[in-house]
Amino acid sequence: NQIQPRKVLGKIQPYSPGKPIWELQKELNLDKVVKLASNENPIGPSPKGTAAIQSRLNDLHRYPDADTVSIREAIAAKLDVKKEQLIVTNGADELITLLSETFLEEGDEIIVPAPSFSEYDFGANLMGAEIVPIPLDEKYQFDVDKMLAAITDWTKLLYICSPNNPTGTYLGKEDLERILNEVPERVLVVLDGAYSHYATAEDYTEGIEFVKAGAPILVMQTFSKIYGLAGLRVGFGIARESIIQTILKVKEPFNVNSLAQAAAAAAIQDDDHVIASRESNEAGKKQLYEGFEKLGLSYTETMSNFILLQLGPDAERIYQELLRKGVIVRYGKIWGLPEHVRVTIGTKEENDFFLEALTSIL
Ligand code: PMP
Repeated sequence: NQIQPRKVLGKIQPYSPGKPIWELQKELNLDKVVKLASNENPIGPSPKGTAAIQSRLNDLHRYPDADTVSIREAIAAKLDVKKEQLIVTNGADELITLLSETFLEEGDEIIVPAPSFSEYDFGANLMGAEIVPIPLDEKYQFDVDKMLAAITDWTKLLYICSPNNPTGTYLGKEDLERILNEVPERVLVVLDGAYSHYATAEDYTEGIEFVKAGAPILVMQTFSKIYGLAGLRVGFGIARESIIQTILKVKEPFNVNSLAQAAAAAAIQDDDHVIASRESNEAGKKQLYEGFEKLGLSYTETMSNFILLQLGPDAERIYQELLRKGVIVRYGKIWGLPEHVRVTIGTKEENDFFLEALTSIL
């Protein structure tokens, strides 16, 4: 006789993406914990972002700007798009939910690469839409032929995560161009560039040029990664104005709080912090690659701030032992990769701590 939830929620489990450091420290009774599990920026937030927060503290009795004007203006200036082509959300996570609420209903389909970021599936399940996973190939590259062949009359969204979480591989510009040329207009291609600032490949594109050219694409980005503001929850989408206006129909008015808006607007102008974050990531990447090679471990070359590391049949045990030694990485089973872990590239010191722990276990 109890009140019943919607039937589609039967497919959804509450998602808990890793505990905060202090909680694990207490739980495991450890002096030191190094968290390399959530692809956060190890050098911290943009100092310009944190300074901007200070100036807003006395205005906390006011509601935030529902139209997020100053942050849209800052993003528009930085990326050379119109502010009407932008929507700002409570993390990119919220944008994925808004996209689902805007475009999906029961019976619709979304095409997603597999393995990839799990929130796309969540959004589809929430609306009772079907998920059509297209496996990456054996080198974790996108299978463009299969993605295109999977399009049906019911397809609404086609997700591309580039660089892809958790593999670190990416979709080249020519392939994206081909997809955009071949998808029917009624399909929206969503290019998730949460990690786009880390990509160094010459044929990488963050996709904004295609938005400008009027293609059926929405580019999604976040302040949680290179800008180091994961705790504030700010993401944004860039697309044709008519698409943005439609998504705005389902947005809550005050979805991004005022401190987050101030910090993000300042952080996007903080080139020094972006450059320093990229340099730290490149150095850490090299350090981890060398460490893995010394240990005879294979890994997937990454265009991002994390590395998919192959540990073989003992991966789960190694993951657990790392935890006991105070190193948190992400175990690959959630992506159907039970022999892998995904490790975020940390500071030199964090990477050393992780490599030492790994060496002592192997
Ligand atoms: N997309 C990808 C690929 C991600 O890895 C993440 C964060 N883990 C997000 C989107 C969501 O980012 P945000 O913190 O802005 O919600």
